[in-house]
Amino acid sequence: MMQTSRAAAHTDLRTARTPELREHDDTQPLLIQVNGLEKTYTTARGALTLFRDLDLQIQTGEMVAILGQSGAGKSTLLHILGALDAPTAGTVYCASTNVSKLSQRDAAAFRNREIGYVWQFHYLLPEFTALENVAMPLLARNMKKREALGVAANWLKEVGLEDRGEHRPGELSGGEQQRVALARALVNHPRLLLADEPTGDLDETTAGKIFDLIERLHESHGLTSILVTHNLDLAARCTRALRLEDGKLATLAMSPQTVQNRN
Ligand code: ADP
Repeated sequence: MMQTSRAAAHTDLRTARTPELREHDDTQPLLIQVNGLEKTYTTARGALTLFRDLDLQIQTGEMVAILGQSGAGKSTLLHILGALDAPTAGTVYCASTNVSKLSQRDAAAFRNREIGYVWQFHYLLPEFTALENVAMPLLARNMKKREALGVAANWLKEVGLEDRGEHRPGELSGGEQQRVALARALVNHPRLLLADEPTGDLDETTAGKIFDLIERLHESHGLTSILVTHNLDLAARCTRALRLEDGKLATLAMSPQTVQNRN
């Protein structure tokens, strides 16, 4: 079977890591199972095929980095996993749901329930306060406003921004905006965090702090997390790093040097 031969050909990142790096319990059940994924866009210049027979398995509790050149299809892969886009062929099981078969309405409900999404740019609503932005997914689920604002306040505290609740996004730093975006992504307690270059627009120090926060939230909320990043040092802190290239995913072996220099 394809999956087996591909797995055998890979170097396992864990064998290349120093012992203090994140360990993963590989007896956990699968949260994501992708088989034979294909995605073809029809463009003015013809068909653009991004994935050909791509397979992926991710266990509950893993924190997986996805690397690859710009245009390789990393964002598209996250969109498909998070039911924001549909595959052309193949099956995509995510959080016990066949996301390739969802109607638009069911996909929206699935995203609201199971997926926390963070992008490179925060996409907070500029005319609302930080507190209101975090409360938004709760209000979308018909929680009463007073209660939603209370839950949102707790989340702002958890991301270290309890004194910024009344600030609008334009009155926050880039790192603070991303903290609010993380609180908003997780306020509905999703099982899966999908982060598309969450530190890509931040300076190195702030990026490190946001990554620390993601790690802490990942642990404390029992998340499964997939992070698209160009930062090898941050990728080395994940349970696995995968490179998307030529429409396929390959396990990336980090050199001990990369790992030692990760901070
Ligand atoms: P990455 O995140 O790795 O930079 P993307 O997933 O954003 O890559 O895009 C992969 C390729 O697919 C790019 O060449 C992009 O132009 C193309 N693409 C993305 N979305 C669409 C779309 N809706 N229609 C046509 N082409 C698209």
